[in-house]
Amino acid sequence: MATSNDCLFCKIVAGEIPNDTVYETDTVLAFRDITPRANTHVLVIPKSHQDTLAQMAGEGADLAELFAACGEVARLEGIEESGYRVVSNVGPDAGQEVFHVHIHVLGGQNLGPVAAGRG
Ligand code: 5GP
Ligand code: ZN
Repeated sequence: MATSNDCLFCKIVAGEIPNDTVYETDTVLAFRDITPRANTHVLVIPKSHQDTLAQMAGEGADLAELFAACGEVARLEGIEESGYRVVSNVGPDAGQEVFHVHIHVLGGQNLGPVAAGRG
């Protein structure tokens, strides 16, 4: 499994930094965001290190497991019916802070329109 020594989320996967786990499989970990931006805010990550979703997709990785895990998180958090948003920031213009692939699962409230930085 690919890991990166300086990567915060690799340290979370390794158990070196504590996390509030919501869901876990052999390949995916889902845990609560430390600075929640919605009533429900969970990060879904592959356990194996990849910088961005684009890089992961470019290497032909199976993204289905990641998105299936997002659906499972929504079910476990009780927001499957009320609705939720999945977002992945890729690169500087999107404000990506942690360069280990992660998908934000947001919900538990009305989220308004997708934020695009305008208006
Ligand atoms: P990005 O801006 O890269 O899409 O999102 C990174 C996310 O990681 C942010 O929402 C931030 O709050 C979250 N985060 C940063 N450090 C930690 C941490 O140590 N633990 C957890 N659970 N989340 C973190
Ligand atoms: Zn990593």
